Amino acid sequence: MLLPKFHAIPQKELLAAIYDIQAGIDQDDRDTACQAGCFACCTDQVYLTGLEGELLRAELARLGREDLLAKAGELAPQTTAPSYTFNQLAQCCLEQREPPADQENQALPKACFLLEGGLCAAYEARPLACRVMASQSRCAPGGEAEGDPWWFTLDSALMQIAEHVAMGSGYGSLAAVLAGDQTALLPCQPLPGLLAPPEHQDRLEKELLPLFARKVDGQHLGRWMDRIRQESQTGRDPANIGKTR
Ligand code: SF4
Repeated sequence: MLLPKFHAIPQKELLAAIYDIQAGIDQDDRDTACQAGCFACCTDQVYLTGLEGELLRAELARLGREDLLAKAGELAPQTTAPSYTFNQLAQCCLEQREPPADQENQALPKACFLLEGGLCAAYEARPLACRVMASQSRCAPGGEAEGDPWWFTLDSALMQIAEHVAMGSGYGSLAAVLAGDQTALLPCQPLPGLLAPPEHQDRLEKELLPLFARKVDGQHLGRWMDRIRQESQTGRDPANIGKTR
């Protein structure tokens, strides 16, 4: 799979802005039962973008955890590509059609290979899917998180935006992304529209304003998102994308 490169777009900085806004939302508005040592949600069914994988890989290298990178390489051949990315799922929902059957989630989840002694070995660089996981009550292993429906709406929007800014990278399981196993990744997709039930739409628009208005490398994040969409639609030689601007 040949993915385009968005050379002139500060994708890592855009992702960092999303992480930052998400951390603020979490601290300000959510009363959760989540705490260190609680890891029911730390499974091998966490999906992320290749852009997030780059940050995670750098963090593992900084921590001297090449063993965990090697572990990703061992586990990657056992994983398959997910049936859809988050934005593909959103597109199906927006078009009111069924998404492709999800083969991956029919398997029983196993513990994430970054979990050590009940803690994440790369917590500071954990993907957005882990950051947004929250529950109002303590989760039993294998059980489900309980959250306010509004959290789901807002977190889904952030996941969609994070995939959009990661355009040009792949999407898949932690092991496949860290190992760069292209056979088990899908290409990230642009934002098809935000998923929000009617009762949340105004609130979502208001809540996302600070994110879209956040300045990243001298330009609003929303403008960068427009630029990513334009670049992805040009169909130009991937090697030249972004060079003329
Ligand atoms: S990356 Fe870290 S936080 Fe995310 S599932 Fe794995 S151990 Fe848990």
